[in-house]
This record gives sequence, structure tokens and C-alpha cells, in this order.
Amino acid sequence: MSDSQKIWLDGEIVDQAEAKVSVFDHGLLYGDGVFEGIRFYNGRVFRLEEHVERLFLSAKAILLKMLWTESEVCDIVRDTIRANGLVDGYVRLVVTRGSGGLGLNPYLCPKPSMFCIAASIQLYPEEYYAKGLELVTCSTRRPSHATLSPQIKSLNYLNNIMAKAECVQAGAMEGLMLNDEGTVAECTGDTIFIVKNGVVITPKITDGALDGITRAVIFELCERLEIEIIEDTITRYDVYTADESFLTGTAAEVIPVVKVDDRSIGDGMPGEVFKELLTAFREEAASTGVEIG
Ligand code: PMP
Repeated sequence: MSDSQKIWLDGEIVDQAEAKVSVFDHGLLYGDGVFEGIRFYNGRVFRLEEHVERLFLSAKAILLKMLWTESEVCDIVRDTIRANGLVDGYVRLVVTRGSGGLGLNPYLCPKPSMFCIAASIQLYPEEYYAKGLELVTCSTRRPSHATLSPQIKSLNYLNNIMAKAECVQAGAMEGLMLNDEGTVAECTGDTIFIVKNGVVITPKITDGALDGITRAVIFELCERLEIEIIEDTITRYDVYTADESFLTGTAAEVIPVVKVDDRSIGDGMPGEVFKELLTAFREEAASTGVEIG
């Protein structure tokens, strides 16, 4: 990342060195805030409105009153990309609770802060799209809806970070996260899919999965390609005995899984349904989206 990066911060595009938030910001003090990760390809922002809508839903759920409209936020994302002269990359859009005292009370933080970063990203090395990832099951569980809704994309990612640390310790790049019932919720930063007898299956949102934007794209593509797709509760047994598995996420796109907890998935190679979906995804990403302008 270059030092001359331009950042949108609270209404202005500033140099990276000037892009600062207060140490009293509750986003920093408590992880109190929400965010989105968005991709742009070929001069177009992929699923921009959907990401911005999810940001507003996350904000609403945590009682954070946005100072901008959804359409203004879409323009802010495009302005930030343009200011950095990029055509392919990743946007991090963050809304913090803003500054307040050293107490939890969100009502004492009068003004949220928003910033937008446009950069390049490579989550997984390219070779893994061809050879597949190995996963381990993390002992850290996803919180239940009664604890903190996994649908809120909040600045507090410690739950996922602790699980990610377990993956790293086990030499894996991603890991399965289970919910309190012990069924599969999602991965630390990606949605999980399995394929069994030609049917694509992903955990239900109520089982602890984020309502992923890429997840929704996979539903659209399956419908178009006439591949059956369902949401269902899945167990680790279902994953171990699946014919195929793959992950999706804004940063990861669509990536195959070939081993989970030392069990080969199917024949241990990326599957045919995955390959069909990856091709369709890449075509969709390259040909649709909101023009940067
Ligand atoms: N689950 C978690 C916990 C995530 O953080 C993400 C986003 N990185 C996803 C799933 C994938 O969601 P999306 O497709 O909207 O990026």
C-alpha cells in the first residue's frame, strides 16, 4: 500500500497521513461500529447497493444513526476509488460510533465517524483456487443470536480473530466455526458450501452464517445454471462426507476446499460444480456492477 493513498473521512478526501480518528472513538475503545468489504472489478463496483444496504442494516441493529443516505454512501465509495485512480481492488467502508467518554453508553457519542479506504487485495494465493484449501474445525464457537447476532457486520471481530488464530496454529488458512448446537455456522471470514448428490447446500442464516453478499450471488448463479441449491442445517459429518466443498466471500470470491480435519472431501480435488460456479462468478464479476464513473 502506498503512503499517498487517498482516504475519504467524514466528508473529505484526505491523504493517508491525515486520515485519523480519535483515541476516544468507541470504534477503537469497544469495537463499536460496523463495516463492509466491497470489491470493484474492471471499473465497476460489484454488488455496491447490496453492501451498502447491509451496512445500513448492521447500523440500525446497533442503534447507530447514519449521517448519510444509502445513495450518498454509494457515491462516497465511487469517489474514493476514483480519487485513487484504481480500476480493480477492494474497498473497506467503516462507520464508528464516534467519540464519547470512557464508558459504554452509545447515547453519549453524538456523532458517528465514517471512512472509506480503496486498496488492492489478495486474500488467498492464486494457487489455492486451483488446488484447494484445507480447513480445520475451530474450538471457538460463533455467538448465538441471543448473544450477538452474527448478521451484524460489526467492528468487533475478536470472535473470528480467535478462531483464525486457531487455524494458523493448526497450519490451515481457514477454519469451520460451529454454533452453540454444534452444527456448522460458517468459516472465520467466509461462507461455507457443500455439494452432495448434485445439490449445493449452505448453512441457514439462523445457524449463525452472515447473510453473505457472495452467498447471494451463488444462489443467483445456481438458479441460472439450473443447479439445485438449498439452505439447511449441516453438521461436520455432512461436510466430511460431501462430494465437494467451497467457500465464498467478497475477498475470497469462490475458492475450493479439499480437506477438512484431515478428511479428503470427495476425491480430494476441486469439484466440477465448484469449477462451473467459479467460471460463472468471474464472468458475473467482470461484467456487472455500478460504474466507478
Ligand atoms: N462470514 C464472515 C464472518 C465474514 O466476515 C464474511 C465477509 N468476509 C463472510 C462470511 C462472507 O460474506 P460476503 O460474501 O458478504 O463477503
